[in-house]
Amino acid sequence: MTGTDVIIVGGGVAGLSTAYQLSQRGVSVTLVERQQLGAGSTGQAAGLLGQVRKTASATRILVDGLKVVRELEAQTGQEIFVETGSLRLATTEARVEDTRNHVDLGAGSGLEVSLLATEETARLLPYMKSDDVILASHTASDGHILPHELTMSYAQIARKNGVKILQHRPVRDVIVEKSRARGVQTDQGPIYADQVVLACGPWAYLMAERVGQVLQTVGIEHVYLTTHPNGDYPIDRTSPAVRDYDGRIYSRPEAGGLIVGIYEDGPVLRDMAELDDDFEMSQMRAARDSPAVAHLLDSALHRFPFLENVKYSITQGIMTFTPNGSPLSGTIPGVDNLYHTAGFCGHGIVQSPAMGVIMAQLILNEPCTYDLSAIAADRYFGVPGFQERSDIDPKCAHTYSGHYGSAPR
Ligand SMILES: Cc1cc2nc3c(=O)[nH]c(=O)nc-3n(C[C@H](O)[C@H](O)[C@H](O)COP(=O)(O)OP(=O)(O)OC[C@H]3O[C@@H](n4cnc5c(N)ncnc54)[C@H](O)[C@@H]3O)c2cc1C
Repeated sequence: MTGTDVIIVGGGVAGLSTAYQLSQRGVSVTLVERQQLGAGSTGQAAGLLGQVRKTASATRILVDGLKVVRELEAQTGQEIFVETGSLRLATTEARVEDTRNHVDLGAGSGLEVSLLATEETARLLPYMKSDDVILASHTASDGHILPHELTMSYAQIARKNGVKILQHRPVRDVIVEKSRARGVQTDQGPIYADQVVLACGPWAYLMAERVGQVLQTVGIEHVYLTTHPNGDYPIDRTSPAVRDYDGRIYSRPEAGGLIVGIYEDGPVLRDMAELDDDFEMSQMRAARDSPAVAHLLDSALHRFPFLENVKYSITQGIMTFTPNGSPLSGTIPGVDNLYHTAGFCGHGIVQSPAMGVIMAQLILNEPCTYDLSAIAADRYFGVPGFQERSDIDPKCAHTYSGHYGSAPR
């Protein structure tokens, strides 16, 4: 035995947040990462935080998460959250209705969300085309989390609390004895612990398969562009984030430039089993003529015409989607003491601060005040139509495609 209470596999925000929370509670943790911290989806993320979600529980995960971020900032002295406010544009009558509902949902969760007329929207974001905007909602306390700073802050305090972080160490298997997780197998030998947490991002379903479990996640490519700073088109670091659902794009300021990303229809799925140990997500290069990039440029140029005159680079990564847009966190029948946490559907950076608290509560059997049924890892356990990849993949792709797009009429 190594004296480790909990082994966490995966050094993205999900694993690190769990490590941080467990170590704050005096638990002895070893975190094992196949490459280096943040080398998965985490390192590619844009970090946008829009707190108002479709359910009060999902909103609370983000609102409470921001409090955790503030605590981390106080402990490390590092800025992690940039408050910019955010705009949600309505360019169709159907979206106007949806936007009014959004304002009500936000108000119901105690957030300051208001409706803005076209002129006010234009005043807030002079570099955005707004003459086709009927109205917009504005959430004052939204913004973005800096993914690298969040990752390193979790790691810094976790290490200070005694967490052992092993990098460049792929986990090959979970050691299971008598239907109970006992540790993990690596090329350098086994590591034993009382509990094992799999926080493997897009690789999550592969680790689940190793122990005969089905995790309903899929890896999906995602692209955004980042404009280079240009003195003729200054972008303030606190100018509001934008969500243009009808145009399928989002934006936020980044180092004097602008990030614009797209949730396109018909996304590209990735078989994570095809990627070898050397695969680095940061080395992914999107083809300029791919449908996703073409759609991104088209929509981005429509909303931000100044893009015509500035240079930009394109970032590509792999997100993890589930069939209904909520993560899969907790245990699955068949193997005791084995926890999963994955499938954050493009919101893992901003969900991670509260999800770490939830995972720590689950692992330590503490009372949990969140609606766990919405995020339970076993919610599709044995459910017909959710057990084969040929069923799971299209359902997850459908959720990605419907994430943005036309408002329901
Ligand atoms: C382009 C892009 C833009 C995004 N924008 C946003 C955004 O605006 N806001 C937001 O909140 N989220 C965003 N996301 C999503 C966010 O990045 C993810 O939800 C989040 O990073 C997931 O964290 P994770 O820890 O679950 O996964 P990951 O960060 O992928 O971490 C999993 C880790 O597990 C490791 N691993 C896998 N298998 C093994 C193994 N066998 N042994 C050891 N280690 C292993 C991997 O190397 C990886 O480091 C974006 C993602 C992408 C790709």
